Amino acid sequence: MEIFTPSKISEQKLDDICRSAYQDSLDAEFNAQYMRRVDNKEKVARLRALRIIAPLGRFQEYTDHSYVNNFYKMLKRLSDKYNFDGHLDDYIVRTDGRGNKITGACLDFYTGSWPFRTKNLHLFYEPQSNEADEIFLRGHEETHVLEHLGKIKLLEIVLKEKNVKLNFSLRKINSQLRADLGGFYSLLIRGFHLEEIESKLSLHYDKNSLDVFKI
Ligand SMILES: [Zn+2]
Repeated sequence: MEIFTPSKISEQKLDDICRSAYQDSLDAEFNAQYMRRVDNKEKVARLRALRIIAPLGRFQEYTDHSYVNNFYKMLKRLSDKYNFDGHLDDYIVRTDGRGNKITGACLDFYTGSWPFRTKNLHLFYEPQSNEADEIFLRGHEETHVLEHLGKIKLLEIVLKEKNVKLNFSLRKINSQLRADLGGFYSLLIRGFHLEEIESKLSLHYDKNSLDVFKI
């Protein structure tokens, strides 16, 4: 079944929201890097908002659905596929934990049994009306992907490369705060300024994680 393959249109959409030729060339370089690793038979997740390529373990799978028009339909489709027997609403509430309207998700479902138990990660989100929201939301969910893969260190490394001073370990902070940090990082590497982020972002975010970039 091909229904879980991300569509070409979705891929195009994120390309469209990159704002300049310079950004386009960075994304082209990132995609070329990804293709080299795939050609090399490496199993990796391409986190396009964060521009991070994360290695996948033998028992880790990742599917990027990009944006979906009906969030709950997608959720239902996945829960049917994996025979998830919990209450979907509970699942969603647990995923965010802040009581906000959920427009994006990184969900984990399990297949197989020990010692072959496999974690299947799925990322999807509702299309947003402005580019800042869309990039932020994607970056936020991609940070949850890193968390699920046990690869949060990769975000720490790129933040350090951009001279963001962290006086705490990313592994030790609240998961949503950390995911927001990833969302802001995704915007900053696309040329958004902090003031612009504050004025343009309509999604809920944790102010503390934006302050990290102001130091
Ligand atoms: Zn989250």
